[in-house]
Amino acid sequence: MPSLWNDEEAAKYAGDLGSRVYTSRLLGRDKSLVLHGGGNTSVKVRENDILGREETILYVKGSGWDLEHIEAAGFSPVRLDHLVGLSKLTTLSDPQMVNEMRTHMLRADAPTPSVEAILHAILPYKFVDHTHSDALLAVCNTADGERRIRALYGETVVVIPYVMPGFDLARRCAEIFPREATPKTIGMVLLNHGIFSFGATARESYERMIALVAQAEKALGPEKPTPSRPVDAAPIRRELAALRRDVSTAAGHPVIVSTHQDPASLAFAQAGDVAAIATRGPATPDHVLRTKRIPMIGRDVQGYAKAYAQYFAQHSASTREPKAMLDPAPRVIIDRDLGVCTVGKSAKDAQMVFDIYSHTLRTIQRSEGLGGWRALPAKDIFDVEYWDLEQAKLVKSGAAPAFAGEVALVTGAASGIGKACVQSFLARGAAVVGLDIDAAVTTLHQRVDFLGIACDVTDGEALPRAIEQGVRAFGGLDMVVLNAGIFPGGTRIESLTDGEWARVMHVNLDANLALLRETHPLLKLAPRGGRVAVIGSKNVPAPGPGAAAYSASKAALAQLARVAALEWGADGIRINTLHPNAVFDTAIWSQEVLAERAKHYGLSVEQYRRNNVLRVEVTSRDVAELAAELCGPLFARTTGAQIPVDGGNERVI
Ligand code: ZN
Repeated sequence: MPSLWNDEEAAKYAGDLGSRVYTSRLLGRDKSLVLHGGGNTSVKVRENDILGREETILYVKGSGWDLEHIEAAGFSPVRLDHLVGLSKLTTLSDPQMVNEMRTHMLRADAPTPSVEAILHAILPYKFVDHTHSDALLAVCNTADGERRIRALYGETVVVIPYVMPGFDLARRCAEIFPREATPKTIGMVLLNHGIFSFGATARESYERMIALVAQAEKALGPEKPTPSRPVDAAPIRRELAALRRDVSTAAGHPVIVSTHQDPASLAFAQAGDVAAIATRGPATPDHVLRTKRIPMIGRDVQGYAKAYAQYFAQHSASTREPKAMLDPAPRVIIDRDLGVCTVGKSAKDAQMVFDIYSHTLRTIQRSEGLGGWRALPAKDIFDVEYWDLEQAKLVKSGAAPAFAGEVALVTGAASGIGKACVQSFLARGAAVVGLDIDAAVTTLHQRVDFLGIACDVTDGEALPRAIEQGVRAFGGLDMVVLNAGIFPGGTRIESLTDGEWARVMHVNLDANLALLRETHPLLKLAPRGGRVAVIGSKNVPAPGPGAAAYSASKAALAQLARVAALEWGADGIRINTLHPNAVFDTAIWSQEVLAERAKHYGLSVEQYRRNNVLRVEVTSRDVAELAAELCGPLFARTTGAQIPVDGGNERVI
């Protein structure tokens, strides 16, 4: 565990709060120390208030901030004396604690202080750092973890038995710490939870954390990679989509299921004792919020949900206030053939679950090497899972986006209408798989909810492979936009070759038949029913001279979509067609082509752009937004429809 301290970088952060920001970020950079909002840090600073009175302020990490990206504004300034006073009370409810912290802050707009603020306050050191280090937890979470920790650290740390975070933990530390701390003490271990370090400077506190964690790593010895056997490369998309449907049913809403088959995940999933070791509990209690207490082993979602309901019934009976059961769907699925699958309301959430679990499985394996992984009793985990202050971390403001947890596939996604469709579906919360023959699609968006795959949709082998890849990333398929197409205009029938005709039919028609055929089994398993939006053309109702192959291919596609609507209605799949016209912000319409066509009709470019009944321009975005809406709740009762998006065309009307 190397220290990441760098003098040059550190010099950019001025003052106590500045250096607090710097080393907090250093901790946040190392994922084996803290993950996704875990851990917290503080500094105590003497300041004058507006009336010139001097007092000590605890700047402590605010809720909702990640150490990796924290800024000065992410620290809540709370009056230290008041927090220390609170630690002497015998009881303090959560709402009271939050109220006392919020009403004793210096800045009204500061975030709510960390639930561990009182604990930071009672530690008599200027800088305090707290992490959930993997190595420390691997040593702790063993049958004789406490003995190992005491033997490892001796007087350098004070050991606190497990107490639920919040006021009770702070109070317990306020009792034990002064009694057990010695001049040699540089840290504190909270058994089954994490570790603290302290110092007079940010650097000292940070480097003590690194040194303490390095000791735990040394005790664990070198990590032995567990061998994994490669899994069958056969397609698993139908099994995955069926699994995702079941998990979505248990969750009560569609979810993303991401499949991970990296060597570490596979080795863990294939371990003979995985069912025994993976179901003992999380590495540290606050992971329960994202991962639930235990993963699901295998694919019996109903069985998992039933066991979860029993766990809830058993432990909720003794809570102070009545609790409502959270959804009983698993967040981590471990399956010999699938590897490790993680579940979330969005691709980002599913990724966070994987980030946490990939550390958990390593920690479990290292503890196993040290005599056996042991987690806290289920009741302790339940208390944190159903702790209002923890749940508050998951509440996002506003309603969930329309396509939250759903997956859309868009063809021709690298440019024009397809690219705009990607944007419209992402904006509605869907994860999007974009296919395009142009490899630019792979770098269209750098975000976890977009997967761009270079794929020629007319290639009968590449297409199923791309769909398989998309389903492995997100778990299934809910919506498909058939957009990829070609428009080689300007050839009259008497000069139209068989080759050109066949090429246009191949891309605009045959490839879409293959796409419908390949995606049907997946759309059938979509939790809210599958939807298909077909990008047709004004040329279907109103063909133009010189575009025989294009017009015929799009007319056949529209007819194919109508038959699909009839055949798939019983499967809950809706399929509707859009007929755009004169969408000029696409790759085929360069400024020269536009100028040439405008001249051909005796119009200015501006007149030509708006050459429709409403005299409006029709953009890729207009078409994409309508394609997305067609897949949304407004059109829940519509299938087999053909809708123009052309500004009004006299020949169509
Ligand atoms: Zn903690």
